[in-house]
Amino acid sequence: MFHRLKNDFRLSIITLLGISAILGITPFAIMRFIQGNVVAGVVDLGILAGIVGSLAYAWVTGDTRRSGMFLAFIICASAVLVGAVMGEAGLFWLFPCLVTTFFLVSSRIAAGLNIVSVLALMSIETAFSSPVQMWTFAATAATVSACAYVFAYRNQDQRERLEHLATIDPLTGVKNRRSMDEELDLAAANAERTGLPYALVMMDLDHFKQINDVYGHGVGDDVLTDLVALIEHNTRKSDQLFRYGGEEFVLLLPGVDGNSLQTVMTNLQQILRKHLKYPGGPVTSSFGVALLRHGESIDSWLSRADEALYKAKESGRDTIIFADESDQRLAVPA
Ligand code: GH3
Ligand code: MG
Ligand code: MG
Repeated sequence: MFHRLKNDFRLSIITLLGISAILGITPFAIMRFIQGNVVAGVVDLGILAGIVGSLAYAWVTGDTRRSGMFLAFIICASAVLVGAVMGEAGLFWLFPCLVTTFFLVSSRIAAGLNIVSVLALMSIETAFSSPVQMWTFAATAATVSACAYVFAYRNQDQRERLEHLATIDPLTGVKNRRSMDEELDLAAANAERTGLPYALVMMDLDHFKQINDVYGHGVGDDVLTDLVALIEHNTRKSDQLFRYGGEEFVLLLPGVDGNSLQTVMTNLQQILRKHLKYPGGPVTSSFGVALLRHGESIDSWLSRADEALYKAKESGRDTIIFADESDQRLAVPA
């Protein structure tokens, strides 16, 4: 639970808001019923139900985008309602809402929601005691929203940049090992749910060190970027390539097994043999392929592919080895 709160910023904001609302609104709702003000009590309970509902939805489904949107709408609508009913004393509630919307939805939607909320309040005659008060309110609300917008925009930009830095390999532009772990978890969960087969290919360039040693690191780098371009051009959109480290890559292939997997791998091997080159000649690769077994852990899946790759290297390189014992006969000779 704390792990989810720590890693999901929007979920933590939704939870904080939800708990504050439950603690803050419940006593008012009870008090209204005790005082016989049933309508106000029902309105309070309605707001409370909406907030608790979106909080529960966020936790159960993990869909913080929709629950954030719903929550932003509820808090703005409630603040407008409170301002309309209570007048001056209720107006201040809109200010925390104007800031919070930027944490719940995208900057653009939040700005739109804020403008609509302020205009809605301005159109309600009972909300303000004088035009000066109304325009002062509009000016301060616009200032608060503008500052929150700039802050949220910059924050989002920096978060995206950090995410890019943390997940993308700078040389080749493919996802790194860290994102691979997440994608493999998703693949395993999907395989469990839908029965879709998944194949994992661990590949490593042969004698790559020699290319660096003889022609320099720059040429080695070019071979790596060429390799990525070739694989990306010759695999499906649903296939994912990750840089596992150095000149070792992992290819995740959903929806292929048996003979089609063998065909895919043989084609890929031939394309690389033909087109991947350095000034000294063609660059070959070795491949270890493992199909995800039912209920298998990611570590075991990876290590079976790794063992198959090791066997491919042992057997002289430029080879594809399939990990499953029953599929050993599928090992493709060089
Ligand atoms: P094998 O056939 O057994 O795989 O031999 P190899 O020479 O390919 O493997 P080895 O592990 O001995 O060498 C891998 C080399 O990859 C060593 C390292 O300097 C080089 N390397 C790792 N990352 C990069 C990179 O980003 N750019 C370049 N140019 N070289 C890299
Ligand atoms: Mg190598
Ligand atoms: Mg290697």
